[in-house]
Amino acid sequence: MSQIDGLPPLRDVIATHQLSAKKSLGQNFLLDLNLTAKIARMAGDLTQADVLEVGPGPGGLTRGLLAEGARKVLAIEKDARCMAALAEIEAAYPGRLEVINADALEVDPLAHLTPPIKIAANLPYNVGTELLVRWLTPTDWPPVWESLTLMFQREVAQRIVADPGSKAYGRLAILSQWRTDPRIVMDLPPEAFTPAPKVWSAVVHIKALPEPRFPANPATLSRVVATAFNQRRKMLRSSLKGVSLDIEAHLTAAGIPPTERAEQVSLEAFCALARSLDSAKG
Ligand code: SAM
Repeated sequence: MSQIDGLPPLRDVIATHQLSAKKSLGQNFLLDLNLTAKIARMAGDLTQADVLEVGPGPGGLTRGLLAEGARKVLAIEKDARCMAALAEIEAAYPGRLEVINADALEVDPLAHLTPPIKIAANLPYNVGTELLVRWLTPTDWPPVWESLTLMFQREVAQRIVADPGSKAYGRLAILSQWRTDPRIVMDLPPEAFTPAPKVWSAVVHIKALPEPRFPANPATLSRVVATAFNQRRKMLRSSLKGVSLDIEAHLTAAGIPPTERAEQVSLEAFCALARSLDSAKG
């Protein structure tokens, strides 16, 4: 029995259900339930919230979230081999865990949850960035979720919180910092996982702001930033040529020297550029 609940230790769960880790599914499991409970606490008070977890695997973080009092956890796992292990957790927490055996990129789980909603996950590295971008780019703001508490490879976490001028600064930093307050709240060495990955990981806590820091249309900002950072070493007047015939005038109107490179441009200036481009459309 573990210290946080009456269920067996995760090593036994993995052995019983023969859950040998699959690299293709990004499976690096957390087996220390004290650690998963600590990550769950970083999501804040869960007692009044529904929590979406992507990729519960054998259920380490799921058990942490439930032990920390989550009102409900909706867990979406692609690997059918994990279903029996997750059913045991469902039985131990009646009515509080719902499991969907699906690809998280294919379902819209937020429609099945009641606000306030928090998202907490040790994300598979191969779909983590795509899911984050989807959660960050709804048309309407504030989003349906209050906060994201997500484990990433540390290099990805650093891209989320990066400042202008740094190597890690790019699309992820801008999309994250425009409408949220992202912070790295924990670093984890490879040995925290089974099997151990090659690189360090980090937990990022991302709190949705009530409104964007600066006005801009999400689709325009997304397109401009993606195009600008696609050729990050080029001057903006050249990398953004395809965005508008008058790009130099729009850059100047936004207060950005046309010879500047994307990595030097602040979030505020990118928002001004998106607004200038939209105002030209009428
Ligand atoms: N939450 C567990 C933990 O912390 O030990 C497992 C984390 S492991 C890094 C990622 C999990 O995501 C695996 O269980 C994997 O099977 C699952 N997964 C991978 N791709 C997925 C997808 N597209 N949709 C849902 N789950 C996925």
